Amino acid sequence: MSSSNFNEKINPYEVALQQLQEASKILNLDNGMFEILSKPKRILTVSIPTRMDDGSIKVFTGFRSQHNDARGPHKGGIRYHPDVTLDEVKALSMWMTWKCAIANIPYGGGKGGIICNPKQMSENELERMTRRFAYLISDIIGPYRDIPAPDVYTGGKEMAWIMDTYSTLKGNYVQPEVITGKPIAIGGSLGRNEATGRGLAYTVREAAKKRGIDMKQATVVVQGFGNAGQFSSKLVEEQGAKIIAASDSQGAIINTNGISMDALMKFKKETGSIVGFGNAKSITNDELLETECTILIPAALENQITNHNADKIKTQIIAEAANGPTTPEADEILYKKDILVIPDVLANGGGVTVSYFEWLQNLRRDYWTEEEVNNRLDINITKSFYDVYDTHTKYNVHMRKAATLLAVQRVVEAINIRGLWP
Ligand code: NAD
Repeated sequence: MSSSNFNEKINPYEVALQQLQEASKILNLDNGMFEILSKPKRILTVSIPTRMDDGSIKVFTGFRSQHNDARGPHKGGIRYHPDVTLDEVKALSMWMTWKCAIANIPYGGGKGGIICNPKQMSENELERMTRRFAYLISDIIGPYRDIPAPDVYTGGKEMAWIMDTYSTLKGNYVQPEVITGKPIAIGGSLGRNEATGRGLAYTVREAAKKRGIDMKQATVVVQGFGNAGQFSSKLVEEQGAKIIAASDSQGAIINTNGISMDALMKFKKETGSIVGFGNAKSITNDELLETECTILIPAALENQITNHNADKIKTQIIAEAANGPTTPEADEILYKKDILVIPDVLANGGGVTVSYFEWLQNLRRDYWTEEEVNNRLDINITKSFYDVYDTHTKYNVHMRKAATLLAVQRVVEAINIRGLWP
């Protein structure tokens, strides 16, 4: 998955811990509080026996990590990928705690994953594995306990199976609020599908203002062309920017005259990849990241910008659609180069914000227009952008440190007010 071998050695949980350590030091957190925040509250590892189409049984391993719920029920996606590890899920659950605190929505962090290769599984196999996983985690999830959502290689289909399995287990009562990212027909929210990209585009708009960048002159490079990458780049294109290069797991393409996002999305839908798109030259993933541009959007997986390539990055703004694409060493290098990083916990917070809107609509069985969803998202994430930006200037630290500082402060405040019991 990673672009180079060295990337695979980086453990995302160690990265998350290092970020927490740095924030704790600035905030003078005591050791006990640091310990609470450094470990998930609960981790469940499950074996998922699944009947394959050829009649054999395959046992997959799945995880659910619930990091902290001082501010509200756990919230976070479920990822299907061969490289899923427990440490990755733990890190992602910690980042979800920060993300919900930065977005100022009443949730804590959670994350789940199954070690599997969904691309090599049939629809029936995926359904059986997903339903069995839902059954195995059904005691620790719930509308007021832990509300999962989609992540890498999961989407509305899997959310619908989990919602149906959970509802059936709990007595055939329909409980759409147990999960978000559902199809509209069963309680999904309008605007949820594009929400991560839309939120990212709003933060880019504000960052461009801060840097005096005219979006009509801006060029954009996007790594990863799935849900987050496609909508991020399409909505940034709508602000007038030109997308000049893009990649997916099969390769990368460039055309400095600009690539139409509608055309590329159509091509990817039809062929399964962006490779082979007309009027564009093939480049490597490393070349893509080092292409000169105004805005770089990493939208694939972790550890793509490291101390090995950060120095070669030639951009003004990095807007992280992916979770954990930049390592702490790379952060320092980018900060010295005066590149403004809009960190994942802020930039891709639109997804969980609209998940929260979906949950609110489900609980009230009262549905909003797409315009209302988008307007509320804009107000919410723009406020978060300035909360983080102001912290960054107040403490004179880079944006990720500022985001973690802000989040840790909010979570610690909730823990202290609630107190420890028993
Ligand atoms: P997705 O499965 O829709 O897309 C992932 C994309 O990355 C695919 O196009 C795949 O081909 C590409 N990819 C995989 N390996 C690559 C490589 N080595 N180089 C370049 N491209 C590669 O997943 P997604 O939902 O778009 O998630 C992408 C990232 O965004 C993840 O880090 C995820 O956690 C994060 N994210 C997604 C959402 C959301 O709502 N979808 C919300 C918050 C964060």
